[in-house]
This record gives sequence, C-alpha cells and structure tokens, in this order.
Amino acid sequence: MSEENRMKENIRDLELPELEAVLLELGEPKFRAKQIYSWLHVKLCDDFSEMTNVSKPLREKLQKTYTAALPEICEVLTSKLDGTKKYIFKMQDGHVIEAVLMKYEHGNSVCISSQVGCRMGCRFCASTLDGLARNLTSGEMLSQVYEIQRESGERVDNIVIMGSGEPMDNYENFTRFVRMISDENGLNISRRNITVSTCGIVEGIRRLADENYGITLALSLHAPNDETRRKLMPIANKYSLSEIMPAIEYYFEKTGRRVTFEYSVVQGVNDNRQEALELVRLIRGMKHGGKLQCHVNLIPVNPIKERDWKRPDRTKIEEFQHVLQHAGITATIRREMGSDISGACGQLRRDYLKENA
Ligand code: SAH
Repeated sequence: MSEENRMKENIRDLELPELEAVLLELGEPKFRAKQIYSWLHVKLCDDFSEMTNVSKPLREKLQKTYTAALPEICEVLTSKLDGTKKYIFKMQDGHVIEAVLMKYEHGNSVCISSQVGCRMGCRFCASTLDGLARNLTSGEMLSQVYEIQRESGERVDNIVIMGSGEPMDNYENFTRFVRMISDENGLNISRRNITVSTCGIVEGIRRLADENYGITLALSLHAPNDETRRKLMPIANKYSLSEIMPAIEYYFEKTGRRVTFEYSVVQGVNDNRQEALELVRLIRGMKHGGKLQCHVNLIPVNPIKERDWKRPDRTKIEEFQHVLQHAGITATIRREMGSDISGACGQLRRDYLKENA
C-alpha cells in the first residue's frame, strides 16, 4: 500500500446509490456507476487503470479521491488435511486481520473479521486480548471475501461473520456489508447463506430482527445460566439470559430463521451433565418451547496460550450432545477445520504480529 493510497477514501465502502451520486456530481451519467461497481464488486478489480470501459480522465478524477486497492495478503496457510486456508491481511492503515476459507461438501465458506481486535473480553478468545483497535468498514469486510476469491480461485458460497470482532458492536458497517455482498450488482450471495454470530447484544439482535435482513443468527451462549456465563463472558454482566433469550425468540418470530446456539465446551466450567440438562430447560423454557427451530453447535474450546482453559475429552462432549439430542434438540459437535494450521480465533493474527514486531 503506497503512502498516497493511505490517505484516500475506500471506494468499496460505497453502495451503488452512493456511487451514482458521486458520479452525477462529477457530471457523469448514472449508468457509469454500475460499470464501476461491477469492476469493483464482480470483477474484483483493484486498480482504476484496469477499468477499460471507463474514460481515462474519469479514472484519474476518481483516483484523486479514492483508492480501489485491496488489502495486502501477508500470509496464507493451507491445511494439508482438508484444504482450509487461513489468511492474514494488512489494511490501508497497517492494521492486520485474519480470515479463513473452509471447503465443505455443500460449498465454500469464508469466515471474516468485523473489527480489528474486540472489546467484548470473552475469556477464552484470543481476538480480545489486546482490546479493540478499530471497526472495519464494509469495504474492508468485502475485501476479505474478494481477496480470498481472487487468491484461491474458488467461488465463495457462504459467509460467516464469526472472525475477530463483535458485529453488533459495529452494526452499521456490518449491515452495509450484508447489503453489498448480497447485492445483485455485486457477488450476489444469498442472504440465506450468511450467518452472523453475536455474544448477545440485545439491542443489536432486536434491531436486526426488525430490519429483517434474512440472515442466520448465531448466539454465543456458552453457558445455561448467568452465573457460569459471567465466568466466561464479561458481556453477561450487561445482559442477562432473561433479556437475551426473548430477543432470540423475537428474531425467530420476525424472520422464521432457525437460530444457532454456539456452546464452547470448557473442561470443568460448563461441560457437565447438569449443565446439559439446564441447557435443555433453558431452550425448552422459551415461549415457543418445542416449536423454536434451533440448533446447538458444541465447540470444543480451542485452548489459547494466554489462558489455561482446557478442552474436555471427546466422550464428555459426546455425552453432553446426547443429553440434548435425547431431549429432541439438534446438536452437533463442530468439526475442526485445518487443525494442522490451527490456533484459536485470533491466535494466528497474534502470532503474526509478534513475529513481525
Ligand atoms: N463476537 C462474535 C463472533 C466471535 S467468534 C461472538 O461472540 O459470537 C465465533 C465463535 O467462536 C463465538 O461463539 C466465540 O465465543 C467462539 N470462540 C472464540 N474463541 C474460541 C476458542 N478459543 N475456543 C472455542 N470457541 C471460541
């Protein structure tokens, strides 16, 4: 990234109507915006000079204010086991983030970051150890997908906003990202194939339900009661389950989308039969009780160097799963992707920063 580009606005942050306004301002016809949008969001072009159906004077004018550059790829790790790829990107201002490409039978998924770092402070998560540096813009979220598609040559089918950051803490940019990635003039990824994960920011969940984006919601639950939840997640001091669970029901009522509960299983903290039974009661106790379409995703905790949480034995996690299944709740154990290049969420970025300090 050149010094010059660093000061410029990212043209990829603009939605089509905004780009149209910019071009009208420059005395250009409106259709020009669609052409440029297509260069940026379909052809994934990163340089105005390659936009061959746009006149040179216009390209030069745009170049004065905006940059079309994509973030720099600093590192790509590829799993020999399942082809999972982990990427480290450097943004315009030098901040570093990570994203992951996972290949499944049902298609390719990209997991993107929504912030540089995070201020939610979940105790087992590496992304939050140094707090929040800044929000990512919508263009920077898009760029992660675009760069991965360019580098890997793979078509991206699903997006999960489950990398570093709390999307509801960056609501405007994350929803702008959702609009743009699902725009028919862009990559046109179906909103049904987009999942957002939140630690449980109630206002955000309710707003997302009201605005009905039609995306899938995942809640990082991690415990069946507030007391245990507070041991793992400081945000549990702000919102209790008595506020969060009704917000989840509201999301389901408004959107009809099946909700996912993520449950990172930590040895001796939330992995006993008693907690599994309590989780059943929590889910069954919701207003829609048996009707709520939900799914529990058990994530064996990924230990990070900085903390001493341990992963329970596989059999212990399976027992937990069986309690849920026995009660008629769908529960899966997350398959670890790219375990040979692994490291918990945010750990790769931390290692990279240390090595390059
Ligand atoms: N801020 C969002 C996205 C976070 S990452 C959220 O809180 O949901 C996606 C999921 O991975 C969350 O459920 C998060 O709690 C979980 N997670 C983060 N670090 C983990 C670790 N080391 N082991 C297991 N799960 C982890």
